[in-house]
Amino acid sequence: MKIKALIIDKKGHYRDSLASILSDLGVECEIYATGKDALESAKKPEYAFIFVSRYLEDMGGELFLHHYQQKYFLADALTVMITQNEVTEIMLEANKAGFKLVFNEKDINSIHSFLIRVVNNRTLDLHGKILYIEDQDSIAAMTTALFESYLADVNHVKNVDSAKIKFIENNYDLVITDCELNGNETANDIIELVRSYNDSDKARIPILVVSGEKDQSKRTAFLRNGANDFIIKPFDQDELVVRVSNLISNKKIEDQARKQQQELIQLAMFDQLTGLYNRHSLFDLAPKYISDAKRHKYSISLLVIDLDFFKNVNDSEGHAVGDSVLKMVGKVLREHCRNEDFVARFGGEEFVMLLPHCDLISACSKAEEIREAIAESNPCGLTITASLGVAILEKDDDFSSLFDKADNAVYKAKETGRNKVISLDL
Ligand code: GH3
Ligand code: MG
Ligand code: MG
Ligand code: MG
Repeated sequence: MKIKALIIDKKGHYRDSLASILSDLGVECEIYATGKDALESAKKPEYAFIFVSRYLEDMGGELFLHHYQQKYFLADALTVMITQNEVTEIMLEANKAGFKLVFNEKDINSIHSFLIRVVNNRTLDLHGKILYIEDQDSIAAMTTALFESYLADVNHVKNVDSAKIKFIENNYDLVITDCELNGNETANDIIELVRSYNDSDKARIPILVVSGEKDQSKRTAFLRNGANDFIIKPFDQDELVVRVSNLISNKKIEDQARKQQQELIQLAMFDQLTGLYNRHSLFDLAPKYISDAKRHKYSISLLVIDLDFFKNVNDSEGHAVGDSVLKMVGKVLREHCRNEDFVARFGGEEFVMLLPHCDLISACSKAEEIREAIAESNPCGLTITASLGVAILEKDDDFSSLFDKADNAVYKAKETGRNKVISLDL
């Protein structure tokens, strides 16, 4: 559906220039000279814009708007008063009467640029960052201006090397490339630069090839190599804008979907309180750690860490303090692990740490370090201690039996006084 505007102004000359700006932007105009004509004839209250001059022949602009509003709803029409006065002088009064904006009629440039912005927002979305590779300056200047008039943020470069630098430094929503660049470089070099990039977010940025190629098979080859779309030179500006708009908005939809997917993964895999892996991840990933260690014949140890008398913390300090303590313990555990270690919150106040390439002696001393660190951490001014069980994977163990050994060790640590490290494998 076309965007419509209503213009009511007694001056033919002014009306016409406003109408021509609007028609250039694809807006359909209905024009009336008097308020009475407009009220009688403007039947469809579906205008995106209503321009009224401050003084009409038969009534003031404010009175017109009042009558119009009584007859039709304004809905979300953008009401604009056109005046010969200083805008600031009558702004307040006009706003009270229902005008959202006031323009001085001599300031046609402001009206023009304002309309470009607003109309384009209502139609096409080119709000994005574009990397544009074109070796011919004249084409580049014209096309860049076109995109910028739709509020795109355009970086123009002329060859693959400059494109590479820009591409690394920025996050683009679209790459547009000419098919043949200077010095034997082609769109295929740009496609390769993007698609082979070592960052999946960057590697999937859409690519539009501006092709001078009449040869259908070559154009198909661009698509096969990883371009998303192409347009043939000399191109129709509207077609180019629509294609660019489609590519950018699809990219944004995909970005949003990916973000949601990441959030879901985050929720499914990680404990929200401590940021550590959760129980689900532990059962999912631990068997893989174990089978890797077995296959490649390296040692792997497991720690179970259970806070001492944690129920008392909740009971005496409240659940919120209990939560802060758990967070702090999570932080201590994270600080004590290497990249290849795996730390999970297994249950309420129980944590598990898998240590690949770690023999029993090293695992026990790591456990001792952790015990001390927790005892010294004083979260919320409290003294918190933990009991730790250590086990090492032996020939016949699987994850379940390894875990049981460490858990039994914790049980023994609790029985024999807490705040200590025990291993039944020693
Ligand atoms: P022990 O030394 O024998 O391990 O005693 P304990 O009190 O630490 O052990 P118990 O298993 O009896 O109690 C664990 C407590 O952990 C009970 C529960 O209220 C608390 N808890 C579990 N999950 C959370 C949580 O997410 N937040 C808080 N604040 N408390 C939790
Ligand atoms: Mg070229
Ligand atoms: Mg417990
Ligand atoms: Mg406990």
